[in-house]
Amino acid sequence: MLIKLHKSSSEGEINHISHLINEHSLRHLPCLQNKHIAVGDQMPDALLKELMETEAVEKIEKIEKPYKLASREFKPQNTVINICGVKIGGKEIALMAGPCAIESIEQLIETGLLLKKSGVKILRASAYKPRTSPYSFQGHGEEGLKMHKEAKKHHGLLIETEVMDVRDVHIAAKYADILRVGARNMQNFDLLKELGRCGKPVILKRGMSSTVEEWLMSAEYIMAHGNPDVILCERGIRTFENSTRNTLDLSSVAVAKTLTHLPIIVDPSHAAGRKDILEPLSLASIAVGADGLLIEVHHRPEVSMCDRDQALSPEEFHKIALRVQLIAEAEGRVVDLS
Ligand code: PEP
Ligand code: MN
Repeated sequence: MLIKLHKSSSEGEINHISHLINEHSLRHLPCLQNKHIAVGDQMPDALLKELMETEAVEKIEKIEKPYKLASREFKPQNTVINICGVKIGGKEIALMAGPCAIESIEQLIETGLLLKKSGVKILRASAYKPRTSPYSFQGHGEEGLKMHKEAKKHHGLLIETEVMDVRDVHIAAKYADILRVGARNMQNFDLLKELGRCGKPVILKRGMSSTVEEWLMSAEYIMAHGNPDVILCERGIRTFENSTRNTLDLSSVAVAKTLTHLPIIVDPSHAAGRKDILEPLSLASIAVGADGLLIEVHHRPEVSMCDRDQALSPEEFHKIALRVQLIAEAEGRVVDLS
């Protein structure tokens, strides 16, 4: 259920409604930005009646889907997230690219400057790295984030980075424009709650064995805790197929587009785990309706400290960007390569 409050409702009135709901031992989360209060669907008739008679309540809507705020039922029109003038989810395709991990400030400046010429608006790079082996490079942590922010002064792109732990959130939010939840953490609910309160847009990757509904429920966690700026990212799922690292599930993009108003991007790099098929996967992603791409690019792929096999050179990325522009235009979208 979604309780829509009148725009003029006061804090006292909202507290009164919370009190009524609490009295019935129902869990709810105030979503103050839109003056909506989301409640579970088992609302007793007596409470429903009482709420309907409360002056501050404009209407009470039943949203069939378990994810309320993320659903198209709640908001039929696409959400466009505007981050310092860079729009995600609108007509323009958002190109995000950069190295798997932050290695040095020189790496970030050089990669950022080169990618800027290929229409990239957001430089990806992780300071906290989820690695399968504890003996692999784990990222530079906060020192890396300082490099990310310092390099931004030179390339001028927006910067994004991964957070793996609740404790990383407020640190990363000091430096980055966008925070990313990796596939392994899609259901780290404490992390999602903290991201609800972080004040920065969040890229939420789909877990490698998660359904579309579970993915949207994770988006709901972030939204219900106060952050409406969630960008979904399909990055491939685990299947029996072993010619690619994961299987890029493009149906999930088409399906999720029918269910949610949130922007959806695709990361073909972690899906494929190899660079030779990144072009067709990128083109197909745009054709299926993705709002952007997240691609790994290293200024010198042969020395990349992680995910070397899938890292493109800036030149290789540029060729893909040119072809993506053609597909985007055919789909009535725009890629700004200026
Ligand atoms: C990444 O984007 O750096 C990453 C680790 O990807 P994923 O979480 O999709 O494996
Ligand atoms: Mn990687």
